Amino acid sequence: MKVLVINCGSSSLKYQFMDMETEGVIAKGLVERIGIAGSILKHQPANGEKVDIEKPMPTHKEALQYVMDALIDKDYGVIKNMSEINAVGHRVVHAGEMFASSVVINEEVMKALRGCIDLAPLHNPPNILGIEACKELIPGVPMVAVFDTAFHQTMPKRSYIYAIPYELYDKYKIRRYGFHGTSHRYVSERAAELLGKSLEDIKLITCHLGNGASVAAIEKGKSVDTSMGFTPLEGLVMGTRSGDMDPAIVKYLMDKEGLDAAGVDNLLNKKSGVLGISGVSSDFRDIEQAAEKGNLRAKLALEIFSYRVKKYIGAYAAAMGGVDAIIFTAGLGENSAMMREEVCQGLEFLGVNIDKSKNNVRGKETDISTADSKVKVLLIPTNEELVIARDTKELISK
Ligand code: AMP
Repeated sequence: MKVLVINCGSSSLKYQFMDMETEGVIAKGLVERIGIAGSILKHQPANGEKVDIEKPMPTHKEALQYVMDALIDKDYGVIKNMSEINAVGHRVVHAGEMFASSVVINEEVMKALRGCIDLAPLHNPPNILGIEACKELIPGVPMVAVFDTAFHQTMPKRSYIYAIPYELYDKYKIRRYGFHGTSHRYVSERAAELLGKSLEDIKLITCHLGNGASVAAIEKGKSVDTSMGFTPLEGLVMGTRSGDMDPAIVKYLMDKEGLDAAGVDNLLNKKSGVLGISGVSSDFRDIEQAAEKGNLRAKLALEIFSYRVKKYIGAYAAAMGGVDAIIFTAGLGENSAMMREEVCQGLEFLGVNIDKSKNNVRGKETDISTADSKVKVLLIPTNEELVIARDTKELISK
């Protein structure tokens, strides 16, 4: 079975075409600047040269059409015709409380997704556009939605109810949802395999540290708490997002800076985080470089970032009454030895000891803890596409 995995952003479309007999990637790629001048498709067949295709792509439909054309192209394509696409798996950001696991897409599911637009106004609309474009271009091919929020639906009420009038939860479903669920799920399952233990028997803290960042507490394979909340703004400090802060700052900023609600929302989502603290960049590589050259605000940004991750690890170890392994994943978690070391420094009291030479690694599954570390520390590259493809295969085979 061959599965096409699609992840649509507002102006981008990432895809991975997978052979589920081997779970190997046949081709993958990225469309950027959809709806903007200079639309480009970067297509990478597994056994061939990368190709750049520059064509006007005013909507996700044209973008997807060029992706399909690339997949069947006689020079750089990987299949003879579209009938070789057996199913499509879509990443969808927000399912509210509607779905606690992946689902086969039908009209009812589409209605539910549209009903969640209010909860994720930036993310769900492009996800829906991607599904609709597929429906038009390859009608009849079964499709599955895999949600970022689903894995965290196991959180108990004490983790997800905010201390605001309870009626607001009933009325508007204001609660903590959590995101990056597919990634937390993948690395926790993989951690159990690497540790040679059953998920049932272990307590894990998974740290997805990328441009967006979140930590999850996972007990018996189920998410029991996570740092992102009603939206992906809560929790850790991120590339451009503030993470946790006193909500009273919102009104104060509106008064002092003359901002309206949308203005503050933009400031907290797009201009804050390590970008806001450092004034350098939202990219950790730039910030690490600036810090090395002595930029004090860049150093401060890194310090605040790692301190916040450390605090969440401490909190989640307390919440679960212990932890067997801490897992680092995503762009920063997989690549920055320095950040992993800073996060773990001071956690020796919990039984966390990392081996500096083992930690000197990038993007490769590695146990970076010392042999006698009570808590294992693992680097596990995430693979959300594989989870989406596996769920798609499983659901449509039923
Ligand atoms: P993601 O959102 O998972 O794609 O992660 C993107 C983030 O990972 C960016 O902020 C990058 O700066 C960071 N990142 C990627 N490679 C490195 C690296 N070698 N060192 C430090 N940070 C990195």
